[in-house]
Amino acid sequence: MSKDLKKIVVAIDGPAGAGKSTVSKALAKDLGLSYLDTGAMYRSLALKAQRLGLVGADEEGVASLMSTTSITFGTGDPQPVFLDGEEVTADIRTAEVSEFASAISAHSSVRRALVARQQDLVATGGVILEGRDATTVIAPNADLKIYLTASLEERARRRRIEFEQKGETGDFETVRQQIENRDHRDITRNDSPLRVAEDAVIVESGGVPVDQVIARIKELL
Ligand code: C5P
Repeated sequence: MSKDLKKIVVAIDGPAGAGKSTVSKALAKDLGLSYLDTGAMYRSLALKAQRLGLVGADEEGVASLMSTTSITFGTGDPQPVFLDGEEVTADIRTAEVSEFASAISAHSSVRRALVARQQDLVATGGVILEGRDATTVIAPNADLKIYLTASLEERARRRRIEFEQKGETGDFETVRQQIENRDHRDITRNDSPLRVAEDAVIVESGGVPVDQVIARIKELL
């Protein structure tokens, strides 16, 4: 590739629990690029709306918050997330916020506002971004587009382990159901549904060690 490696854009999409965050973060670190977690932006806005007592169905109310909302990232692992200057890194990872984020992400005006910010963050290049529309809407001209996927069972198993590590409970069947519901909403929404971009490479992460997934993506680069 002739382009300066420090300016490349790699976009990674895929369903919940496919390993996008783990893979994107490790790849960004490895290549010395920045990492953009677009889902964290939906989650932060969801947290703000929830704290203000809004409901997920209130498209206008939630979208109007964006003009007075700042969402920024620090460096570290986990990557610190700041909502209006307050660190919300852990607060945005609860099951409740996951549901709320999934609900508000179906609204076109919410997506428009977040996509505009995400495109600004990607404009200078040197970014690995991940989400549900990273390859199709945010960065359709990315240098490399990946659709990372794994079976529903495998993704639910991973999520359950993540919850356990955080000291949260959640039986397998409940976690599986939550992921299936989020998949359904992400795939069937009218605006920017999760889909495989025409020129994306499908990478299977089920049963494949993370370093092998990363090696495969680096090979593609
Ligand atoms: O990736 P993560 O699970 O943190 O995303 C939270 C929610 O935000 C997802 O369930 C999805 O509905 C939504 N999302 C989206 N588009 C993105 C990133 C996340 O619709 N680019």
